[in-house]
Amino acid sequence: MTDTYDVIVAGTGAAGLTAAIAAHDGGAKVALFEKGEQVGGTSAWSGGHVWIPNNPHMAADGAADSRDLALTYLMSLSRGTIEERLAEAFVDAGPRMVEYLDAKAGTDFYSVRGFPDYHPEHPGGLTGGGRTVECPLFAFDQLGEWAARVTPSPYFATMNITMSETPLGAAVPSMPSPEEMQRRKIHDERGLGQALVGRLLKACLDRGIEPVTSARMRNLVIDAGRVTGAAVDVGGQRREVMARRGVVLATGGFEWNEDYKRAFLRGPLTHPVSIETNTGDGLYMAMKAGAMLSNMREAWWIPVGELPPGVNRMNRFLLSGDRSRPRTIMVNRQGRRFANEAANYNAFGGAFHQEDVARFDYANLPCWLIFDQCYVERYGSPGAGGAGVKSSGAEKAAEWLLGAPSLEDLAEKLGVPPTNLVSTVQRWNDNVAAGHDPDFLRGESAHDRWWGDPDHKGTVEATLGPLDSPPFYALPVRSGGLGTKGGPRVDPDARVIDLDGNPIPGLYAAGNACGSPLGMTYGGAGGTLGPAMVFGWLAGRHAAG
Ligand SMILES: Cc1cc2nc3c(=O)[nH]c(=O)nc-3n(C[C@H](O)[C@H](O)[C@H](O)COP(=O)(O)OP(=O)(O)OC[C@H]3O[C@@H](n4cnc5c(N)ncnc54)[C@H](O)[C@@H]3O)c2cc1C
Repeated sequence: MTDTYDVIVAGTGAAGLTAAIAAHDGGAKVALFEKGEQVGGTSAWSGGHVWIPNNPHMAADGAADSRDLALTYLMSLSRGTIEERLAEAFVDAGPRMVEYLDAKAGTDFYSVRGFPDYHPEHPGGLTGGGRTVECPLFAFDQLGEWAARVTPSPYFATMNITMSETPLGAAVPSMPSPEEMQRRKIHDERGLGQALVGRLLKACLDRGIEPVTSARMRNLVIDAGRVTGAAVDVGGQRREVMARRGVVLATGGFEWNEDYKRAFLRGPLTHPVSIETNTGDGLYMAMKAGAMLSNMREAWWIPVGELPPGVNRMNRFLLSGDRSRPRTIMVNRQGRRFANEAANYNAFGGAFHQEDVARFDYANLPCWLIFDQCYVERYGSPGAGGAGVKSSGAEKAAEWLLGAPSLEDLAEKLGVPPTNLVSTVQRWNDNVAAGHDPDFLRGESAHDRWWGDPDHKGTVEATLGPLDSPPFYALPVRSGGLGTKGGPRVDPDARVIDLDGNPIPGLYAAGNACGSPLGMTYGGAGGTLGPAMVFGWLAGRHAAG
């Protein structure tokens, strides 16, 4: 059976949905295929922050930006991994995309007040934020039967909240009252990545683009060097779908494909936190079509806390705010600190890949988050309450945490040298008393001061605090990733480039399915969804012609 469209898109994350909208509005007849049973991909699991420098909503919040400032910032982080023309395409198209989606797809973006860039002290970085946008709550009952077909996030305790209301997403968090939470349930008003995906999905449905689920794109149809369609397995049946103008690969990364990870990544990514259907299908198809690859070593790295079965469906959580707070440090098997625990999660990947050349092993894997009873009483057990949302403490630590009455006992249980752990904590406590961390500079960046204790945002006390109240606890931390960010190399129109540097006619890629246009850089909150959506938008527009 053969169907014919102008543009076909694989993947219903933010990249694919944006591409579908843009292609339709450019006059194309669009088909949208999703491998999973539900739609939204990791984008629906996310916080929904979208990083767009120089976006049109910043000024309303008093934040100033410019094309030059944004490019200065990106190129200062590049280390040779960003093609300048792609950074320019991103910076130029980002604000236009925001305006477009606000006007035509009901995104209603607003700037997230105060959230600093991830390297705010770099040239062009913004310590006071403004480059991150998010969507307001979105009433899911508008989606009809599709409401239940958006994949829910396993990581958030509630989806009826925006990031800007959480301790992580706001300068002054204002968690909604129980009455307000009840009210939001009436029309199932959701925030986070659900609001973003919900709005983009609604825009697709309004255009008559109904995603086909359980539909896995398997192979491209190539005719005389031009991609003219794809073979798609729909509910177990192979279908050939023709695309008169183009195929957009928005199939996410390859973080759930062990072979590809072994072949390409620079170091371990044992604990992906993305949707499990992201197995590098787009990469496979692009390689078969002769694509040049880029950024293959890289992922959106993140430390991940390991949970026992049943706490959430992934048995893991993103360790972000929890490790930035006072009264906690991270140690390796030598019982030594090895990095600024409050550093941005993507940069933290480097610490996990550091070699111990004498022992020919990874120096900082395994490692643990160590914290004390006072931490638990103030903030609760890391991972127990759902990312970003929990702010209140608990009398007792979660029973699955490893605890001990003394640091020596805890060290014994972990198999790390007790004298090392004791001296590490002693030195940390001395540095805290002196008000700075000369070892790893924790708390020096506006970034660290944002991610720590919400009651002390903006000060060093947000992240510096002693470990002095037993019992002490340990949580195993693993090398994780939000997704990989290597794949086919693209040009400023999101066209896939071949081995000779020429666009492969009819083939586009966006999001984690392509080599990130921003190299190894994670500019700020929303730094993955920003380029994913911008290049999805560019792909859809160009493909539609
Ligand atoms: C808890 C959490 C919070 C996060 N918060 C943020 C945030 O606030 N801001 C931010 O920028 N990033 C955030 N991220 C990361 C972000 O979610 C991802 O990087 C982003 O969603 C990737 O978008 P994408 O469209 O490329 O892929 P995805 O959203 O993962 O979508 C890819 C889709 O393609 C489908 N697919 C795969 N293969 C095929 C095939 N062969 N045929 C058809 N379909 C296929 C998959 O099933 C999937 O639905 C977060 C991640 C997590 C887990």
